[in-house]
Amino acid sequence: MKPVLRYAPSPTGPQHIGGLRTALYCYLLSRKLGGELILRIEDTDQGRFVPGAEEFIVRALEWLGIKFTQGVHVGGPHAPYRQSERSEFYKKYALQLIEGGHAYYAFDTSEELEEMRNKLEASGMENRGYNYVTRMSMRNSLTLPAEEVARLVAEGTNCVVRLKVPPKMDIRFHDEIRGPQHWHSSNVDDRVLLKSDGLPTYHLANVVDDHMMEVTHVVRGEEWLSSTPTHVLLYQAFGWIDTMPKFAHLALLLDLEGKKLSKRNADKYGIPVFPFNWLDHESGNIWEGYYDLGYLPEALLNYIAFLGWHPGGEQEIFTVEEMIDLFSLERCHHDGARFDMAKLKSFQEHYLRLKSDEELAAMARPYIAAAGIPISDRYLQWAVPLMRERVTFAHEILEKGRYLFVTPKEYDMTFAAKNWKQQSIDLLTEFLPQLEALEEWDAPQVDALFHAFVAAKGVGMGKVMAPLRLALTGVSGGPGCFEIAGLIGKAETIHRIERALRELPAQ
Ligand code: GLU
Repeated sequence: MKPVLRYAPSPTGPQHIGGLRTALYCYLLSRKLGGELILRIEDTDQGRFVPGAEEFIVRALEWLGIKFTQGVHVGGPHAPYRQSERSEFYKKYALQLIEGGHAYYAFDTSEELEEMRNKLEASGMENRGYNYVTRMSMRNSLTLPAEEVARLVAEGTNCVVRLKVPPKMDIRFHDEIRGPQHWHSSNVDDRVLLKSDGLPTYHLANVVDDHMMEVTHVVRGEEWLSSTPTHVLLYQAFGWIDTMPKFAHLALLLDLEGKKLSKRNADKYGIPVFPFNWLDHESGNIWEGYYDLGYLPEALLNYIAFLGWHPGGEQEIFTVEEMIDLFSLERCHHDGARFDMAKLKSFQEHYLRLKSDEELAAMARPYIAAAGIPISDRYLQWAVPLMRERVTFAHEILEKGRYLFVTPKEYDMTFAAKNWKQQSIDLLTEFLPQLEALEEWDAPQVDALFHAFVAAKGVGMGKVMAPLRLALTGVSGGPGCFEIAGLIGKAETIHRIERALRELPAQ
């Protein structure tokens, strides 16, 4: 059988980082096995449908370079790939289960269900589910006479279809990450398969589609582990057990306290959970996304790959092709992985530094344009090498290196207090005509001139270098002064020194 994996998100909100990790692992494994990867949208819960969520999911996957061979956005032999467009299949298969005695109609109203739970609670029962014990005292096709059932169904009475879980049965399956799993059917409820609106629940739709789409490996989050016994029962009931996929449940992503990485606690720790900004219409909150914060997709991808998997050894930076080569479910962890922003930033720096000057300039360009700074692409490309080792994000080229593009109008007064003394001012004033006389203007020439000047004066370098830096940049720290002078050019260098000498009194 050809390996087939699927990523099956529900568009109940923006794509979460945990889902992206699941998608990535599905991608790595499908490529490793030389199989197919399907993107299926599980949108049968109409009540939780969020407009724009599906587009957000597709955009996020595309941004990260997670490619699918079939799916809602690319089509394929098993189309449609959106569950809301596949209702007829689920109805057909639900009927098949009823006919085979593996499922039944249940007509109980919500009041009746409530009453059942209250009674069970009053009698101290821990398990208050609809199951092989309680179903016999409820209104369903197992307890009502056949003619009444036929009449109720024909009249279109509100009803659901439930799975008839066999009593006292061992349910065993193998989890590729967690090993053998063992459940007892008395702990599995008769879950609803088809809702009263005629739409399937997750369980029915998921199993029917995995079967129809010939899925061989189900890789999903740990939160679905407790649903798997129901799915195994469904495979048995349908007679599909021989082609039941392999299951692998990935450990949860955790925050710094070791709690599940939810939107809210992640926010508390400054961990974004979405790939792009997302406006929450209810609260008016904007949740910041990795893309908008300036993260590179390759950095995020490499980082999330290691949240729950490690090929062993010390190496941390891997290309996608290397990851595909090394990936295996056996090397996925059982325990939750803590999200570490410092680590992610170090990956980001690594990948940012791999960019060429042209690429970095193109990435910084929109921020410079938005700030209304009129500089050419060539100039920006010359500026980039001065900042590349000093920034984590492309937008910091402007934020941290603003003086490379605009004359500083303000000066860091703490730095000035130490370095803008009368002696320094005098020295800088004396150095200025030498700069004006320099014919060939570039960083090495300015450097040589400067060194000759301080040597002739017999003063420490800092005495002139610090005030020169203050005049050129307005701040302390940053790229070398001569590189800055070389970049901004002779006229601007002289202009900045003159301006500082004029505007900034001795401290
Ligand atoms: N629709 C489920 C989700 O939103 C899919 C779980 C599965 O992969 O079976 O995660």
